[in-house]
Amino acid sequence: LGEAHLEARAWFREQINAAGLALEVDPAGNHLGHLNGGPKDTATFLLGSHLDSVAYGGRFDGALGTLAALEALTVIREAQVSLPVNLAVIDFSDEEGSLIPLMGSRALAGTLRPEHLENPLGGPEALQAGLKRAGLQAEGLLNAGRPPGSLAGYLELHIEQGLRLEEAGAQIGVVSGIVGIGFYHLTFIGRADHAGTTSMEARLDAAQGAASFIQTARRSTMAQFPGCVATVGRMQLEPGATNIVPARASLTLEFRAPDENTFRALEHTLLGEAATAAAAQGLKLNIEHRGEHLPAPMSPIGQAAIAEAARALDLKTIDLHSGAGHDAQSLAAICPVGMLFIPSVDGASHSAREFSTWQDCINGANVLLQAALHMAQRLG
Ligand SMILES: [Zn+2]
Repeated sequence: LGEAHLEARAWFREQINAAGLALEVDPAGNHLGHLNGGPKDTATFLLGSHLDSVAYGGRFDGALGTLAALEALTVIREAQVSLPVNLAVIDFSDEEGSLIPLMGSRALAGTLRPEHLENPLGGPEALQAGLKRAGLQAEGLLNAGRPPGSLAGYLELHIEQGLRLEEAGAQIGVVSGIVGIGFYHLTFIGRADHAGTTSMEARLDAAQGAASFIQTARRSTMAQFPGCVATVGRMQLEPGATNIVPARASLTLEFRAPDENTFRALEHTLLGEAATAAAAQGLKLNIEHRGEHLPAPMSPIGQAAIAEAARALDLKTIDLHSGAGHDAQSLAAICPVGMLFIPSVDGASHSAREFSTWQDCINGANVLLQAALHMAQRLG
């Protein structure tokens, strides 16, 4: 909700009007362009993504899916295709989480909670300032949920942000699901001692427990959980002096897995290894759960529609899961969702190096259009 983002959205509102769609800005700031063709009280099928970007990000992440959706609706309107649903293009607010991750899509799904607003990733001042700039209210965000049954489904085109399509020589990725992410804060607790007079045998060195855990976590994740990842991204030693054996080592643990069974098994393994690493060094271990996003499987109807559309257009597909979060995962809680990827050159994303060829963008938009028509027919 910075100035550049609001400028992009002002431009997008003009495009919605120019395309002959009915503009709606909901209480979460989500921008919708409605193509109402179905009977009254017909459910709406959404196509879209997000126009916000990370700082110094690229031009394709989110913007591609939003504009391809607008183009698809324009084509459907011009061709006067009649469908058993209403259609709308959507640009979700703050997908990237500069303020709150997946803010707009979770608000629309009705899963945004007061605690998300109380503890925003970007800090409370940035949230207040952003909402004010965009003319939004916190209460509005919490009341932006759509009534059950009002949404027929959701379909999103996005860049892959990885190398799997490029490596497979495929043009379209059929997303089977979006990974779940678990967050923990672990503290290994030992005893501070003189670094010169305490023998190696006599120490309760918290750093040793943490270091041993980090190495074991990498080995076991690679050996037992192919395709999953586990990351210790931050670690702090206390008291934190050159000549004191560390009494406490606290670290963040983040792990990702594609389905709920694997997610729970990985979580169980990692926490067990932390306990074993602590015990082996005579340390205590404090485990604090800091939240999770459960894996979001994509709907079989969505996957089939994307695969079928790509086949008809003679494009090679692979099935893959998404290691990054997307608005589609918020929507998966309330309606059937499909998601497709196009290749990212060198896998680069969240960087100015981000690039997808125009031919891949066109392929993606064509599959989006055809898959949307299949899904709309099936779900109407
Ligand atoms: Zn994105």
